[in-house]
Amino acid sequence: MTKPRVAVLGLGIMGQGMAGRLLSAGFPLAVYNRKPEKAEHLQSAGAFVARTPREAAARAEVVISMVADDVASRAVWLGPDGALAGAAPGTVLVESSTLTTGWVHELAAAACQHECEFLDAPVTGTKPHAAAGELLFLVGGAASTLAAVKPVLSVMSRDIIHLGPTGAGAMLKLINNFMCGVQAASLAEAMSLLEVSGLDREKALAVLTNGAPGSPLVKILSARATAGDFTPNFMLSAMAKDINYALEEGERRGITLETGISARKVFQQAIAAGYADKDFSAVIESRRKR
Ligand code: NAP
Repeated sequence: MTKPRVAVLGLGIMGQGMAGRLLSAGFPLAVYNRKPEKAEHLQSAGAFVARTPREAAARAEVVISMVADDVASRAVWLGPDGALAGAAPGTVLVESSTLTTGWVHELAAAACQHECEFLDAPVTGTKPHAAAGELLFLVGGAASTLAAVKPVLSVMSRDIIHLGPTGAGAMLKLINNFMCGVQAASLAEAMSLLEVSGLDREKALAVLTNGAPGSPLVKILSARATAGDFTPNFMLSAMAKDINYALEEGERRGITLETGISARKVFQQAIAAGYADKDFSAVIESRRKR
């Protein structure tokens, strides 16, 4: 069976890995990144490098966006050089960035006007999972649209979960990252208390990570903090963005996420201290230096 032509917009930490998986699986691939130098090695591996999102989308039956936030997503989809302007009717548009549900609904309406199909399909997993095709897609949109693009999403993922109509994937992703952000902030505070208390750091951490507080995330963050390697898999600024978006989603529905407000403060302080571009595990390091 002929593989559909795919376009990937956004070649950051995650988009690089996802595009690499699609190329390895033999999908004809067009890529676009705002800073074109990030596309160079994909070009050597056989991808077509588009100068605009519009050019990339015009060459594809499935367009996947993986960019920073609502502002970036608007920039790649809308406007005369945006992907919507290039997408032919019937193209499936997949938005995998972590975004607000408000923007996702707006984008879905714009896709409909262009007679395109639309899915919100954010992911869990991070840099190594993107590179290894082990992401988890959280999908909102029509089941029939998902069925049509499953062969494409499958090469990038360990599983694909259809959660409901448009916005359902985006909503669960924000709830997921709200919980991750709160855990990270609480670990950062726990570590700073642990260190000033004079406890043996290694022994105390072993108790915490092997006991009830030791979620998979807490285990990973604690190991990274101990190793002192904050090369970003998931940037601290991106986690702050996600906590912020989750708080906004709550506010719009009359819910105050109190622990989210505290976590946002911890992340904002880390950003002010210069950790924005580090891995989000550096939130621990940011409090240690206080
Ligand atoms: P990243 O490495 O910071 O990459 C961000 C991408 O967005 C780059 O391609 C960047 O282009 C592009 N971009 C930013 N602002 C733009 C604008 N105004 N116009 C056009 N393009 C713009 O981020 P990432 O870690 O790959 O994350 C991408 C998305 O996935 C985010 O929504 C993030 O929350 C989500 N996510 C990340 C992870 C993770 O572990 N990293 C996991 C799950 C979900 P340039 O290269 O030109 O700056």
